Amino acid sequence: MKQKETSLNTQVEVDEFGDDHVGTSYDTPLRPDAFEQDDDLKIELISKHFKEIMQILGLDLEDDSLAGTPKRVAKMYVEEVFSGLNPKNKPKIRLFDNKYNYDQMLVEKDITFYSHCEHHFVPIYGKAHVAYFSSGKVIGLSKINRIVQYFAKRPQVQERLTVQIGKELKAILKTEDVAVVMDASHMCVSSRGVNDTNSRTGTAFFDGKFKDQNIKNEFLNYINTDSSDL
Ligand SMILES: [Zn+2]
Repeated sequence: MKQKETSLNTQVEVDEFGDDHVGTSYDTPLRPDAFEQDDDLKIELISKHFKEIMQILGLDLEDDSLAGTPKRVAKMYVEEVFSGLNPKNKPKIRLFDNKYNYDQMLVEKDITFYSHCEHHFVPIYGKAHVAYFSSGKVIGLSKINRIVQYFAKRPQVQERLTVQIGKELKAILKTEDVAVVMDASHMCVSSRGVNDTNSRTGTAFFDGKFKDQNIKNEFLNYINTDSSDL
């Protein structure tokens, strides 16, 4: 009985903050047994449950166009759009010595990402801009994109996604001097709810040298410069 009361209370809270898009923690809330089932079993189970959802909606699963949808959605969830939940999919990162003694800011801008809002399971998509100062090691540029994609491929709130990318880069690059800015459209805002198709959401993570206003401005000026103007 106690269990039931708890889940009812949780339900009310979830519904209340659902449309406000407020996250609760920097870590993705995963259960300790999250990966006891392997991917094949997860696909089989999700497929079964998604078929049930379609049936409840009244869709005819005998129809050629719909028959494969449950399996297709299940595979997409496990192997693609939510693959970043599983630590086994974390990109393997190799660092290189900073042979050029490059001691200025390195910026990787306009990294396209696709994520999913954890309150509605619809896409969040936009651009990420990342910058760091080397503490002696440098990272392959494509690896920065891969780190962004890894954390994006989870049910997310944009604030948490931004912080997870920033903290991961700090840990990998062994430096405090990391900045992340994300600019995104939320389909739960544009395609439903308030149906606002123009609003975008900005989030930022500034640590180390990037807390200095001049350095922060240098980064922000660069990401706001259209490269066709150069
Ligand atoms: Zn949402």
